Amino acid sequence: MFLGIDIGSTTSKCALIGESGELLAMSLVVGGIGTDGPKEAEESVLQQAGLTREQITLTAATGYGRASWEGADYQVSELTCHGIGARFVFPDVRTIIDIGGQDAKVVALDENGAMAEFLMNDKCAAGTGRFLDVMASILRMDIDKLGEEALSAQEHARISSTCTVFAESEVISQLAKGVDRKAIVAGICDSVAARTATLAKRIGLKAPVCMSGGVARNSGVRAALEKALGVELLYSPLCQHFGAIGAAVYALRKSKKK
Ligand code: ADP
Repeated sequence: MFLGIDIGSTTSKCALIGESGELLAMSLVVGGIGTDGPKEAEESVLQQAGLTREQITLTAATGYGRASWEGADYQVSELTCHGIGARFVFPDVRTIIDIGGQDAKVVALDENGAMAEFLMNDKCAAGTGRFLDVMASILRMDIDKLGEEALSAQEHARISSTCTVFAESEVISQLAKGVDRKAIVAGICDSVAARTATLAKRIGLKAPVCMSGGVARNSGVRAALEKALGVELLYSPLCQHFGAIGAAVYALRKSKKK
């Protein structure tokens, strides 16, 4: 049994795989680095599989908080783990667009799945999950409702500010003017997609392209990004777990090499 844990800025994810690489259990806990989230995520997968920590052969930790996790046999970069995890689900994928709670990354893989190049935005909340979380809170909406709201919009409002703080004021003023909420949500998704597309275009996209990270679960952002990039984006409901799955597969591979 191999355990991968991905300790992010906002969430903790775990994946457990068996000796043949089969996915046995997964967990997701809201609460990332510095919280009980990682511990709860680990307990949850162990409980699902009816195992104790001692029965785990090897553990690999990834994510922003990987260095804070005691008991990992390996600490592995997020770029490596998202690459391995994305290939676990989409074996031919060449480009991964990962949008998490506080950063966005574009990773290019070669034909064999090795990382060829990457670009990252970790300087600014715009274009990340944080931006969407702030906007959802202003609109008093659950984060998992933004996608369907955006997709049902007849029109898209334009959110021109690239800064989260200014965009927040812009959304409030649009609400005050009576702009339709669906249109505002669509505009918010467009804004994240536009930021990400700028990053992705700098790397030169090779198909197939997939998304990973929690923001990939937002169908409004996915649709806006497909339009902005002019490519089809592969989607899996496992997207938020690609890092954790990649870490677990990494641990399995290490054990085979031993
Ligand atoms: P991190 O690893 O940095 O903690 P994640 O990859 O887990 O980040 O992504 C977290 C982000 O994903 C949140 O900021 C939120 O915007 C988005 N998100 C989380 N759950 C959902 C959901 N059910 N639907 C849409 N978006 C989601």
